[in-house]
Amino acid sequence: MANRAKYVYFFGSGKAEGTAEMKGLLGGKGANLAEMTNIGLPVPPGFTISTEVCTYFYKHGNTYPKTLRKEVEAALAKVEKAMGAKLGDPANPLLVSVRSGARASMPGMMDTVLNLGLNNQTVQGLVERTGNERFVFDSYRRFVQMYGDVVLGLKPVHKDDIDPFEAIIEQKKREKGVHLDTELGADDLKDLIERFKKAVKEKTGRDFPEDPMDQLWGAIGAVFGSWMNERAIAYRKLYDIPEWWGTAVNIQTMVFGNMGEDSGTGVGFTRDPATGENVFYGEYLMNAQGEDVVAGIRTPLPISQMKQQNPKIYAELDKFRKVLEKHYREMMDIEFTIQQGKLYMLQCRVGKRTAFAEIRIAVDMVQQKLITDREALRRIHPDQLNQLLRPVFDAKEKESAVRAGRLLAKGLNAGPGAATGRVVFNAHDAEEWAKRGESVILTRIETSPEDIKGMDAAEGILTARGGMTSHAALVARQMGKVCVAGCSTLEVDYSTHTMKVSGQVINEGDWISIDGTTGEVINGKIDTRPSEVLQVLIEKTMDPKDAPVYQEFEKIMKWADKYRRLKIRTNADQPDQSANAVAFGAQGIGLCRTEHMFFGEGKIGPMREMILADTVADRKAALSKLLPLQRQDFAGIFEVMDGRPVTIRTIDPPLHEFVPHEEAAQRELAQQMGVPYEKVKQRVDSLHEFNPMLGFRGCRLGIIYPEITEMQSRAIFEAAAEVKKRGIPVEPEVMIPLVGHVKELHHQAQIVRRMAEEVIREQGVRFPYLVGTMIEIPRGAITADEIAEVAEFFSFGTNDLTQTTLGVSRDDAGRFLLPYVEKEIYAKDPFEVIDRTGVGALMKMAVERGRDKRPDIKLGICGEHGGDPSSIEFCHIIGLNYVSCSPFRVPIARLAAARASLLNDRPTARGRARARIGRGARKRRR
Ligand code: PEP
Ligand code: MG
Repeated sequence: MANRAKYVYFFGSGKAEGTAEMKGLLGGKGANLAEMTNIGLPVPPGFTISTEVCTYFYKHGNTYPKTLRKEVEAALAKVEKAMGAKLGDPANPLLVSVRSGARASMPGMMDTVLNLGLNNQTVQGLVERTGNERFVFDSYRRFVQMYGDVVLGLKPVHKDDIDPFEAIIEQKKREKGVHLDTELGADDLKDLIERFKKAVKEKTGRDFPEDPMDQLWGAIGAVFGSWMNERAIAYRKLYDIPEWWGTAVNIQTMVFGNMGEDSGTGVGFTRDPATGENVFYGEYLMNAQGEDVVAGIRTPLPISQMKQQNPKIYAELDKFRKVLEKHYREMMDIEFTIQQGKLYMLQCRVGKRTAFAEIRIAVDMVQQKLITDREALRRIHPDQLNQLLRPVFDAKEKESAVRAGRLLAKGLNAGPGAATGRVVFNAHDAEEWAKRGESVILTRIETSPEDIKGMDAAEGILTARGGMTSHAALVARQMGKVCVAGCSTLEVDYSTHTMKVSGQVINEGDWISIDGTTGEVINGKIDTRPSEVLQVLIEKTMDPKDAPVYQEFEKIMKWADKYRRLKIRTNADQPDQSANAVAFGAQGIGLCRTEHMFFGEGKIGPMREMILADTVADRKAALSKLLPLQRQDFAGIFEVMDGRPVTIRTIDPPLHEFVPHEEAAQRELAQQMGVPYEKVKQRVDSLHEFNPMLGFRGCRLGIIYPEITEMQSRAIFEAAAEVKKRGIPVEPEVMIPLVGHVKELHHQAQIVRRMAEEVIREQGVRFPYLVGTMIEIPRGAITADEIAEVAEFFSFGTNDLTQTTLGVSRDDAGRFLLPYVEKEIYAKDPFEVIDRTGVGALMKMAVERGRDKRPDIKLGICGEHGGDPSSIEFCHIIGLNYVSCSPFRVPIARLAAARASLLNDRPTARGRARARIGRGARKRRR
């Protein structure tokens, strides 16, 4: 008989059927529960229903595989045996939690049911066993409420609706004249349960299920069902989590943190998730349920306080923290519960952290020999480096704001960085305002998973309630947002869109500034300053010795440089931009767009004269005015680049971009040139094109007006000669744009080479130079073998190549491309991330054909994709020599290139041997 599929995996009593490696099948939570069980941590027994069941469920009209019921019953029996209690046993009832758990963590996006197994019989048994009537009826009350919301669909749909159960509780409290839930006694809770059940009957027409097995299957269905709820779908989109992954369902024995003062619950990180410091970081509450901590209903105590309050449990937790870090070689996020003095581990997963923390942890762990530098690089996502480059508040301005009494409040520094913006009080407004181009600070009493899109749109997030592990704090850290959480002095009033703080009223739309590194909230706008890394590298206002964040950044960059094969260049057309890029580690210029220079001081006049000239002689006269100016520009760049290769592109855009189109400006130009206005107007009109992007641009300009190419190449080579004579090495590379036919390149290359040789002869100085082309239209890629006969290098202009391959105008795509991405026609905006199957296939073909003809041809990319990590990976895979990106993305590109190499290259025999040893060591540690 063929092996029957296995859908259910048991864990408990020190042994589990799953392992941490089985995340795809068991989800992150299930896999880690299994792993913790296997390494001997105290995990309440339970079982995981695999993600395959979720896939089956959606493929088969919300039904389960036939064998599932039997497997669940068998696993449940094992749990009952391990616990010595039975689900539904009136004398000794087992209670379980039912939770989701996808491969990637999706905090709060799906549903959970706790305390399952309670009914009018088992509740009595539990009272007898615990002797704590109030606790038992409080658990029952929570269960009916949660089950009613999640499984029976009583949860409000609209944001203004109130939860029917909350309304009943409020009513009851009014009747009793009390304010807090905790002031309700056991009899009140019994009454609440009856009222809840009545509400269920009224809303659904059915009785609340009393049979625990019915309850269990109801909860399992609801959790699988929540994979497709709106929040979960939105979250998956945001974090690229594929729908087909599905969620697992974890059924686990309940342990209670609310069984009195010797019970409690908490969450923690094995290191500080905001700074990365190697300290135990966490929060706990005695006599509370886990949801009280996560939902931010009560503000918890720092874990350090437990050291005094309960040294025995603290010592045990601290031991588990070390065991987990050693085992996983990662910073872990844990959830634990103490039930009547006994500690249980309920969850562990790799902890979310800020970019600052990510880098510090990686560097520290390499130093501790927990991980290798390769692993450190694999862990840091290139875009996270962005956070290190982000601004901080201008220290002086902030100081004077505080001195002027503008400090409104102080909360928890949940997401570092500086943000300033206008206050909005709900996620929807945050989205709308951000769409209008406003910077907003989303201010909430607390956030919930529904707020996710608004949080994403906001510059910063501010909450009045909740700790470092509240929803706002977790999500902000993951998104890399600035966040101040738990700022308890804020009195937020959603109905009037205002908040009161320190005796002041802040209205919607008012400016505030939040410092996520210190937790300060300041009235008004505060300017920001460059980050530490920028202050060291670019502004040079900080000594690296005093810049710990910079030092870590530098280490990561060094490691990245050790492993990357791609060189990193930059797109720059000014000496200062080039200098910035070099400071960030650029190894050359991949694209200098000469046309940008024409807008510089004193250049637009002669440029326009050149464009409007009637005769070749007039055009040459105008060009001779431009020559010294261009030469100066190029000399400045060569000097800064100090011998690094510099690719300079001849003029590319359609000429109409350089002339004025309004009458007044045309009249002014006519006056300057001493020609009649009508003549200017007529020349400008004649430049009009229906499709300028496919019109008179690129090499076509230089072919029709060869004197332009002559002037530009002369300027380049004269500048090279001049700089070389000053003792600075130079390596110019002249690049011809928009080539589709080898003859176009041949025509232009002849001019460039003639100019080079003329200048070398005239100046009596030699320097190496190359002539190459952009590959940016499909015909160029297809005939790359012919083109390579002339070109010494190719640089992929993927902006135009995407435009021409897709037949999508890069200027007009905005209107339909976003919906295209939403409809998943393209997975990502193809102007941001290379469309590997279309544009990428042409690139691959051009690489192969180009190298076939000229094996030493230099290959690079200078389209915007050169700064995008996924596209950089693709460039690595197809074997380019370099990528070129904007100066501020150079560090990101360095890291992305290293990761591409680590993730895609076959390890050498030595590397493989080392990895084997590493795996062995890991196994032994288990
Ligand atoms: C390109 O097309 O990718 C390119 C770099 O050139 P430009 O964006 O200037 O057209
Ligand atoms: Mg182009």
